[in-house]
Amino acid sequence: MIALVKYGQQPGMVELREVPEPVAGPGTVLLEVRAAAICGWDIEMWQHRMANPVTVPVIQGHEFCGTVAALGPGVEGWAVGDRVACETSAQVCGTCFWCQQGEYQICPGRKGYGYGVDGAFARYVVARPAILHRIPENVSFEEASLTEPFCVAHHALADRIAIQPGDHAVVIGPGPIGLICLQMARLLGATHTALIGLSSDAARMDLAGRCGWADKLIWADREDAGSAVAAWTGGRGADIVADCAGNAAALGTALASVRRCGQIVKIGWGPKPINQSLDDLLRKSATLAGTFGHRHANWKAVLGLFAERRLNPGALITSVMPLSRWLDAFTQIEKCQAVKIVLTPERG
Ligand SMILES: [Zn+2]
Ligand SMILES: [Zn+2]
Repeated sequence: MIALVKYGQQPGMVELREVPEPVAGPGTVLLEVRAAAICGWDIEMWQHRMANPVTVPVIQGHEFCGTVAALGPGVEGWAVGDRVACETSAQVCGTCFWCQQGEYQICPGRKGYGYGVDGAFARYVVARPAILHRIPENVSFEEASLTEPFCVAHHALADRIAIQPGDHAVVIGPGPIGLICLQMARLLGATHTALIGLSSDAARMDLAGRCGWADKLIWADREDAGSAVAAWTGGRGADIVADCAGNAAALGTALASVRRCGQIVKIGWGPKPINQSLDDLLRKSATLAGTFGHRHANWKAVLGLFAERRLNPGALITSVMPLSRWLDAFTQIEKCQAVKIVLTPERG
């Protein structure tokens, strides 16, 4: 089969290659990938500026869904043809402290699709049944391929912090995760939502305003974002800040924007040192939470919300392309000309 492989530890060392089709071993299923969305991580791997090391060669792609193509020996409860979304925790140890608590996404032995094990930018991928979820009938493959980033937002905002009805929530960074966090914050009760971004991201900022996900747009290169948040909240500051940008400037903006006793959740990665005092966090008695990935309950919740049309994944999809056009797709995302692009490996 044809697969998109990162084959070296230098920028640009990604290409389509012919690789052997995987087979379903005991206790696993073979999935035919019907839709696989491109994530910011995929761009980072292509440009070789990831926050975490990867072993190569590896097939990229971790935001995906498909149909069950074959069952390995001993698999029950699934049938060939079932439509499934698949979590990203391809392998976990199952016995450590965190796995025992159902927090397997932070298992030290976890290996994720697309960097730890072969991912979904290929026609077939192997999965363990524990991480499969049925796709509701009224949800398309393209929409279901976006379940994973919505689960990132759901875990961050529903599990790692607590949003109250009436809250002012600020999202920093208008990338896909930021746009999804706005939708999720509203759904979890935030009454007022603001998005902080740059003029260079005007298209994605405008999308958030047009879709009603943000009722306030703050342009960080035209005004002081912390002062703008203060004005927007009557001087109090934001109850909730979701940092979906990850760099030092974003953390500074988060600390300036959060109210006393407010909550910041850091979702965006930033491998560079932040060179910033955290004293404002203490002065404000605020909370700074980290978050990583998602777990079973997030997937159940998000797919249910997709089925009820309470979330709008389709609005984020700029285009759907065959795997053969991956370079065009990656380039558009790198240049911020697209929000999400979904690849369809089974169509070549
Ligand atoms: Zn992702
Ligand atoms: Zn474990």
